[in-house]
Formats: sequence, structure tokens, C-alpha cells
Amino acid sequence: MKKESKKSPETFALECLAGLERAKQLRPQIIAGPARTIEGTLREYNALLMNASASNAQAGLMSEVHPEEAIRDAARECEQEVSRFYSDLALDRDMYDALAAVEVSGADADTQRFHAHTLRDYRRAGVDRSPEIRARLKAIDEELTKLGQAFSKNISEDVRSIEFADSKRLAGLPEDFIAAHKPDKAGMIRVTTDYPDYNPFMTYAVDDELRKQLYIKFRSRGDQQNEEVLHSILELRSEKAHLLGYANWADYVTDDKMIGSGAKAAEFIEKVWKLAAPRAQEDYAELLRQLRTVEPGATEVCDWQKTWLEHGVKISRYEVDASVVRQYFPYERVLAGLLEITSEIFDLRYVAVEGDAEVWHHSVLVYDVVRGTEKLGRIYLDMHPREGKYKHAAQFPLKDGVRGVQLPEGVLVCNFTDPAINQPALMEHDDVVTMFHEFGHLMHHVLGGHQQWITQSGVATEWDFVEAPSQMFEEWAWNAKTLARFARHHETGEVIPAELVAKMRRADKFGLGTATVQQIFYAAISLGFHRADPKSLTPGAGQLAEIQRLQKQYTPFAFVTGTKFHASFGHLVGYSAMYYTYQWSLVIAKDLLTPFEQLGLMDKATTFSYRDHVLAPGGSRDAAELVRNFLGREYDFAAYERYLVESA
Ligand SMILES: [Zn+2]
Repeated sequence: MKKESKKSPETFALECLAGLERAKQLRPQIIAGPARTIEGTLREYNALLMNASASNAQAGLMSEVHPEEAIRDAARECEQEVSRFYSDLALDRDMYDALAAVEVSGADADTQRFHAHTLRDYRRAGVDRSPEIRARLKAIDEELTKLGQAFSKNISEDVRSIEFADSKRLAGLPEDFIAAHKPDKAGMIRVTTDYPDYNPFMTYAVDDELRKQLYIKFRSRGDQQNEEVLHSILELRSEKAHLLGYANWADYVTDDKMIGSGAKAAEFIEKVWKLAAPRAQEDYAELLRQLRTVEPGATEVCDWQKTWLEHGVKISRYEVDASVVRQYFPYERVLAGLLEITSEIFDLRYVAVEGDAEVWHHSVLVYDVVRGTEKLGRIYLDMHPREGKYKHAAQFPLKDGVRGVQLPEGVLVCNFTDPAINQPALMEHDDVVTMFHEFGHLMHHVLGGHQQWITQSGVATEWDFVEAPSQMFEEWAWNAKTLARFARHHETGEVIPAELVAKMRRADKFGLGTATVQQIFYAAISLGFHRADPKSLTPGAGQLAEIQRLQKQYTPFAFVTGTKFHASFGHLVGYSAMYYTYQWSLVIAKDLLTPFEQLGLMDKATTFSYRDHVLAPGGSRDAAELVRNFLGREYDFAAYERYLVESA
């Protein structure tokens, strides 16, 4: 049996901080020298990063998954301490000088790259600037952290609602939704802007007026404070970019990414928009036709009608019934199928670990990933919801692999239906796709986690490439042949019919045009706000005028009076100028699928080549080079273009 770890928050904190303490000891030793050599300086610096990252990973994971609140809190404290260490280290001039003094011209390519990128990142933080500028940069970073937290908090705490008395106005919504929304003592039914209310309401509610009211509430969240907060964030980011010698924040933040500059990102956005716009017009016409079935004289589709109409079109035109589809996806079989497929295409075995693994919850599955007799890493699968746990699906690193020192360990944290509670535990197909997507990150982390330098381990590639392998791996959950290996009816055992899969694919593609131009609209806000002079983006008039202009330019749906979308656009904090990355990595993902077109997704010559050329090198080379080595040419738009234009 696996041991479920039982420890006090104090013991946890000590263990969690152990790596950080070791990193803190190493820091003055490296600076003191005396050696300025690869072994004496770079290797020790690598050890410092490994130790800090062990604390960071432990803290980041446990703050999201540990069943005990006291431990989650201790983990958050540990996380803050690591983050203070990192931001202090980033501007440590003595460390920079020590690292810069190492002679690497005779070293291997990976070592030269590690050295060059480490120094580059120090310079990007501003370490080589004057003490006054360094002090200002530090103050800006601290202020930006606080403002970012405030922006997110103002959104998550601003829950709004609509209220109405007539329960007939819930028409169209599923029974479980209606049952959960009974009138209160005053006879009022309340629907909030939280996702579990908002999403079904916008999809199923027949009442157009209520959908409009809820949409306006949803798109006004944060409007009391966030325009001011956003203005301060944009000003500070712009100041930081100028101090570091960049024209604007977009140029600064994209400089070390695949895309390279704000101008290139803007070109990319225009290019995708031009490709998607004709399809968006077709989608819009179809939505208008659908609207005219209930409102014969309608001349326009409004933004609050889009999701509901799309749902209607999918049922009437594409005849895909999610309640039928899920019969083919019992959880246990999907997971077994995923493990079997990845074993085959990457030549691996998963060996269940019972003895020596310590887990935070008894439901967590632990496997060693093995090839032949060689152990490649360890994975943890924490797949079902419980109280206090992270609400989305993601891959968390637990250990970044370093060749000859430590094996990579990664964790899938998901919220799929639990077979211990529900039988049969049937999954929505969307969730199956999510499972494949996140497992794609896990494979990248494990297979790529065998570099000599930790900052080249696994998924440590350019930020705008990270999603590509996972977006690509979703295809294995959409292909009739790969689905046939595990998707069987839970009662009859019948393999999912290829015709049903074809219908699912056709239905999935309806709305791709409008969805893509919507993404482009968001990317244009994210990029445009970080290229403009922040003085022009005043709270109130300036910001709103820009949003209205961009919505009109990129989407067929008119701006709705009363909304302030930018005040609740949370990605402006984490992604800043780089919301374009979703579409960018999709372009690469579609191109990565082209070598599979001839021989299929299970052809080992192709999957092994993909594994060895794209996943295994981790971040030891530029992503564009990895892709070129696999494709035998530069990546291009052709496959993405076909995907946007073709019907299924
Ligand atoms: Zn992802």
C-alpha cells in the first residue's frame, strides 16, 4: 500500500523549505569562489536552482492539492518565501559577475546555451543597470505583484447576480440546475456570475432578457476598481520596459519568445484574423438563421445570444447528443486506454508503485515510467475532485529532471468523475480531451527531463511553445481509430461508431470561426494595451473606447452598452501582452500533426521521431529548431489554414 503522508504543518514547512535553505547556503559560496569554472560555478549554480525549485514545486503543488487546510496555508507561505528568494536573486549583481566570468567557449552546446541564457535572463531583469535603476526595477516588480493580485481579487470577489420571481423563466435549463435554484424566502430565484451558474445559463436559458441581464453583469465585474488598477499596471510595465531599453512592454516580454517582438505578434494576429473572418461570417449567418426560427424578423445576433444559439444549431443541424456520447467513455477505460496508447507510441511501461511512494491523498495513483530496464521518471495521477482541491486540470512539476542527478517527477491534477462514488463513472468527451491534453504536458515533462542543466528540463521551452505538444496530443482523443482502442459502450461493449465520431468532429467545428475571431479580439486587447502609450488608456473613457474599437474591428458582434470587459479580463495579469500564444501554439500543433497524415497516429516510426526530436530535447534547443528537426522543414501556416477552412 502507498503511505498517505500524515504530518503537522510545522514538519511540512521544514521539509518544504529544506531545498530553499540549501539554496541560500550555496549562494554566498558560489559568489565567494574562488573558482570561476564550469564545475565550480555553473554546476553549483545548477544545484542552487535545483534546490530552490524543489521547494517551489512542493509548495506550488501542496498549496493546491493537500487535503488539510493548515498544510495548504503552510505551503502558500513557503511559496512566498521562495518567490522572495527568486526576485532577490534575479537582481544579484555579484552572482551575475561570478557567472559571467566563467569561460565556456570550449564547452558543449548545452552548457554554452545554459550560460548564455542565464546571463540573458539576468540582463532582462536589469542586473547590469546602475544601482538606482536596479532599486527602481525592484520597487516596480513589488508594486506590480501587489497590483496583479488586487486585479485578480477584484474579479474573483465581485460575484454579481440577477433575481427574478417566476420559475418559468428557467425554461430550457437542465433539471439539476432548476432543482439547485429554488426561490428563497422572499420568493426570488437568484442566478450568479460564477461559472457553474453562468455557463449553463448562457447555453440553455430560453429567456433572452435574462441572458442579456446576466451577460451585462458578468462583463461588468471588476468595473468599480480595476480600470484604475489596470492603468497603474500598464504605466509600471511601460516604465520597466523603457528602463530596460525597450520601446514598450510588448517588445520586452516577447523578446525571448518564439514570436520575438510586439510587431511580429501584431502581424500574427492580423494574419489569423484574415484566415478566420470568412468562416466567422458563415457562422454568424447560421446563428442568425437559428435566431429567426424563434424571432422571424431578427436582423442581428447579439453577444448574449451567441452561446445559446450555437447550442441550438448543434442539436438541430449536427445531431450530436452528449448524453449518448458519454456512454462510450467510462473513466477507468479512458485512463487505461491513455496509458496503453502512450506506452505504445513512446515505447514505455507504467509500473505501479506501491511501496515507497508517499502520497497526499489515498486516491492518488503513482507509476514509475520505465523503458526496457531504465527508469525515466515518476508520475502521480490525482484525478478526482475533493474539498479544498484545485478546481481545474493541470500538470504540476514535482521534480525537474537533471541527468545523472535526479529523475523527473510530475503530477496530473484533475477533477474527473470518481468511480469510487459514481458507477458507471461516465466522462463527457470534453473531459476526455482534457485528460489527453494534460497528459501531453506530463509526457513532455518526463521525456524531456533528462538534460544536464535544470533550466533546459522538460517543458522549460519558450513560453509560446509549451501548449503546442498538448494541443497536438488532443488529436488522439478525436481520432476514430485511436478512440476505437478504448472507447466502448459501458453496457454493451460496442466500440464507438466511426460515424458518431465523424458527427462529433463536425459539430465541434461549428462556431470555430466566431470563436477564433473572439480569441483574436482578446489577443488584440492584450497586445494593444501593452504597445500603446498608457496615457491614452485612461480609466473610463480611454480604455473603453479602445475595447469598443477592437470589438468592432475583429468580431461580428456589436459592443453591448453597460459592459467593461477589460476590467474582468484576468489574463491581462498573467499573460500581459501574450494572449496570442493560444493561437500561436495551435498553428504549430496543427503543423506537428502533418507527418501523421499518411500512416496514422499510431505509426511508431513517426511517433518515435516526434518523441526524440520534439519532446526529449526539452528546452536544450530553440523550439523552432526542434520542430524543424521533426518536420524536415520550417513550420508554416498551411495545416492551420486547412483546419480553419475545412468543415471537419
Ligand atoms: Zn495546457
